[in-house]
Amino acid sequence: MSINKSEWLECNSCPLCKKTSSVIQFGVINDAAYSFGHGTVPIPAGGIPMGRCNECHIQFKMRLPSPDYLSAMFINEAGNVWDVEYNYRREIDEIMRYIAAPFDLLDVGPSNGDLLKNIALLTKRRSGLDIVKHPKVGTHIKGEFIRGLLDSKKLSWSGVPYDVITVFDVFEHFYHPDYAMANLAKLIKQGGYVLIETGDCDSPWVKKYGIELWWYARLFEHHMFWSEEALRKVAKKYGFSVVFFKRKRHKRWHYEKASFVISSTIRSALWRLSPLLFRKIRYYQGKSERQPRSPFVADHLFMIMKKD
Ligand SMILES: [Zn+2]
Repeated sequence: MSINKSEWLECNSCPLCKKTSSVIQFGVINDAAYSFGHGTVPIPAGGIPMGRCNECHIQFKMRLPSPDYLSAMFINEAGNVWDVEYNYRREIDEIMRYIAAPFDLLDVGPSNGDLLKNIALLTKRRSGLDIVKHPKVGTHIKGEFIRGLLDSKKLSWSGVPYDVITVFDVFEHFYHPDYAMANLAKLIKQGGYVLIETGDCDSPWVKKYGIELWWYARLFEHHMFWSEEALRKVAKKYGFSVVFFKRKRHKRWHYEKASFVISSTIRSALWRLSPLLFRKIRYYQGKSERQPRSPFVADHLFMIMKKD
């Protein structure tokens, strides 16, 4: 596929505060292409430069696929991305510590509806918000399906707010994090809870090897990377109190096959020993020289915030 310049946006200012003066550029993802679904997406010449806002404590890609280009790629790969079953037992236990059933729930990015399915008995109203309606999600909704992006300037929805909103693996996809926070503040009831999980750009693993090598930043659809400081700051700005915070592994490690966990452990041990040696061995094996995902690295953040 040829690279069309209009498919990529140059982003020199911070997506949160919009300033350029607080942004420094560092590191470049210089692969020839992103892997995506069953195919690849070519990366423009010069790679993907990474930026950091020293005021907001976020990191972000300074070259992003345009929203139209991204949706076209998602439609192409529909069904090949995010179709792994997960029971959300840990996340549901966490919700139950704060709020008594039955409650109204909105799942942002419900994918195939696994969370809505597993939490059904605890809810009155269960809704989903996504740009594309996964073929399997409809049967698990008992409320509304809000078609759109959480970071849209204008969202069209019932206007009846929710007790609980889950936003798992969504905050890294934003073009406009300020719109997303403003929407969350409207979608949640006063005293309601929003649960967020996203990658941690401040994790020791990311700091040690550089964000440009982090598996999470090498995903085509991931645009920005949060720190604890950044999440706490936006929570306060939009009228939320943080009631729980922890660092954790990505939830994918709870559903990966044992064989993949073992092979990832071996690969990441070799990477820790020497990234150079890792790359040489992989090169001679004819395999990807990219940094492996480690099952034991807590490179994610989990936060529960309550609307004041
Ligand atoms: Zn900023």
